[in-house]
Amino acid sequence: MDINTYIEKESRYHMHTYSRLPVVFVRGSGCRLWDVEGKEYLDFVSGLGMSSIGHCHPAVVKAVQSQIEELIHVSNLYYTRPQIELAEKLVGASFGDKCFFANSGAEANEGVIKLVRKYAKQNLGEGKYETVTAYRSFHGRTMKMLAATGQPEKQKPFEPLPPGFVHVPLNDLGALKEAITERTCAVMLEPIQGEGGVYPCELDYLRGVRQICDEKGLLLILDEVQTGLGRTGKMFAYEHYGIEPDVMSLAKGLGGGLPIGTFIAKEEIARAFEPGDHGSTFGGGPVVCSAALAALRVLDEEGLVENCARVGDYFKRKLEKLGRQGSMVREVRGFGLMLGIELEQGVAKDIVSRALPKGVIINNIGANILRFLPPLCITEREVDVVIEVLGELLNEFD
Ligand SMILES: *Cc1c(COP(=O)(O)O)cnc(C)c1O
Repeated sequence: MDINTYIEKESRYHMHTYSRLPVVFVRGSGCRLWDVEGKEYLDFVSGLGMSSIGHCHPAVVKAVQSQIEELIHVSNLYYTRPQIELAEKLVGASFGDKCFFANSGAEANEGVIKLVRKYAKQNLGEGKYETVTAYRSFHGRTMKMLAATGQPEKQKPFEPLPPGFVHVPLNDLGALKEAITERTCAVMLEPIQGEGGVYPCELDYLRGVRQICDEKGLLLILDEVQTGLGRTGKMFAYEHYGIEPDVMSLAKGLGGGLPIGTFIAKEEIARAFEPGDHGSTFGGGPVVCSAALAALRVLDEEGLVENCARVGDYFKRKLEKLGRQGSMVREVRGFGLMLGIELEQGVAKDIVSRALPKGVIINNIGANILRFLPPLCITEREVDVVIEVLGELLNEFD
């Protein structure tokens, strides 16, 4: 099939919910992808951060292959080895005491809100059910997570939404204090807002939020679906802030490209869930958990978190330099390998489209923001290639 046939069939048979770029990928390895015509690309999106350890990492392929030949699925009516091992690993690596496995980021966040609601009802008081989240946040696409997501234009077509969320501007402690009422039980934030445009929490802000939560007896939930597992140059983004959340969700980088999400909580909160309170038929299955175990091993053995911190710094400095060379870049944001640049003109989409034939895959958020989420194994050399292409493209509009 040639590419136009794919495009035509997609538009005929798939609901029109994605604005896709005109490329059909057939193979991936490390930071590279190949399309159906054999053209090679440098991938600075890594499947929206899912293929964090690089595409088709041999360790993940091997783990999945051997697991899939042995046992694919039995459900959570029984114990399976990979799930228990993964739970132990994640708890060991984080602030938390217990985890639960879901299939995606949105689903993990749903579980978080159920857990927090139940905990709050039992421990904070009957009328406490509201969670404060930030404007420009993104927490997923289920109805409840759409309500949590602080982007009114995304919510409008689907109203009425489930109640229980109020929104505040990020990095404004005064606004947060004002939004807290006798109904509030939790605050939920992304350490760096991803889909909303790469806006990090300021150091003093997130520390201040932790302090307010402690003073008022509220839970701090961090949605680390995008920032977690090395993406920001530390295993979890909260480590940059010298604080710990009470509950955290993870998903994107967890499965080495396979779909798995989880949430992790401190013991006292995790205890609110009793048998029957929450569950998942697919969640934490042997295949995805084996993939995640392999991916975590790769992160560790290949030093990818350290690589991310080093190359991320390099990349950010190069982007800032690029910004100073012309008049196109308003701001460079983010840290580790979760970086974005805000442009002076609404040409982000054009730049993404023009980078594609040059063999470089980048992402835009809206008209003005370019986002970079490369695999954590990229090198300075690969950053240089992208910077050069980006420089040429920015010049075309400058
Ligand atoms: C991507 C994302 C989600 C949603 O994850 P899905 O797997 O698409 O449901 C939730 N929160 C954050 C911060 C994300 O980046």
